[in-house]
Amino acid sequence: MKDDSSVSREAVIETLGRLVAFNTESSRSNLALIDYVEAYLRDLGVASIRMPNDAGDKATLFATIGPSDRGGICLSGHTDVVPVVGQSWSSDPFTLRIAEGKAFGRGTVDMKGFCAVALAHVPLFLKSALHTPIHLVFSYDEETTCLGVIDPISRMGADLPRPRAVIVGEPTSMQPADAHKSVVIYNTHVHGFEAHSSKPELGASAIKGAVMLMAELDRIGEEMVARGDPTGRFDPPYTSVHIGEVHGGTARNIMAKLCSFYWEFRGVPGLDPGEIPMRLERYAQGTVLPRLTAHGKPASVETINEVSVPGLAPDPGSAAETLALGLTGRNRPITVPYGSEAGHFQNEGFATIVCGPGSVDQAHQPDEYITLEQIDAGAAFMRGLAQWCAGNR
Ligand SMILES: [Zn+2]
Repeated sequence: MKDDSSVSREAVIETLGRLVAFNTESSRSNLALIDYVEAYLRDLGVASIRMPNDAGDKATLFATIGPSDRGGICLSGHTDVVPVVGQSWSSDPFTLRIAEGKAFGRGTVDMKGFCAVALAHVPLFLKSALHTPIHLVFSYDEETTCLGVIDPISRMGADLPRPRAVIVGEPTSMQPADAHKSVVIYNTHVHGFEAHSSKPELGASAIKGAVMLMAELDRIGEEMVARGDPTGRFDPPYTSVHIGEVHGGTARNIMAKLCSFYWEFRGVPGLDPGEIPMRLERYAQGTVLPRLTAHGKPASVETINEVSVPGLAPDPGSAAETLALGLTGRNRPITVPYGSEAGHFQNEGFATIVCGPGSVDQAHQPDEYITLEQIDAGAAFMRGLAQWCAGNR
């Protein structure tokens, strides 16, 4: 069945194939992809705004279809993908392959599939006489720092329109998701003073300091388990604290000069993001450093924030939730187990929901794929959105 308002599956797959062919692993430039999208939109008569990073080797693209004098519905997708190194793929990850009702390739589900569905529907958006505009945001670095979306967000309401609702198209199998935890990663460095292990009063062991700090993190983690999740939405139902890497020491009989460790917490909504790092810092100053410097040798602790992805808190009845539930025919939103750009949008006061085609089970995997059925579901969503935006101002 086809009518004037449907965009063919082939058109979406063609666009997806183009996007997948650009190797946009987060460590690499995404500019070739941005060039392509910019030219594609320009050919359709849609102007876009490019927002480069400081180094100038990556950019976020922003474009509006429809009236430019009011805020609309923002479709947000990231263009970077996770690396393929060390993964065993059955075919070239950067060549789209269709087989068994699936489209295989790096980024097909996370999340070039959503970007392709949105882009392939721009011609339909254009002929739909939209009263509410549709904004496109295609960002970079989502898989590493999640900061590529900061620029457009900070300009929304200033020189860019302020959206009424934001849909972040991470894979949810087209089920609107209104909640995810925050993801905050730190690297803590303990600096001590080297001495022979037989003369402990001549040194300050950085490893001892790190062990004390890690034990404190473990105590805080236990407390977070006890504090639980007031929303009852998360699995596991608490803020988790985790130490992932420890590096320190040069020899078994030397008091270490340096010990560093990576740690993270994944916070439920309502957790003050400053609480855990502040408590660790207080413990470092009040307990760890007095112990390390007891014999007059210098020591210090510094904690560097590496990644900070805010959580997404449920916002029942928000414009984004109402729209996405309506378009997908669902009754209630779900929770997703990963972080996304949605928390950054929500932090700035935008009604935000996560909803996109494909299953997160295939994200970051070798032989990553999106089913053609999910591509069709994404296309149906865009058709509904075009209708909604034509009928609502
Ligand atoms: Zn993603």
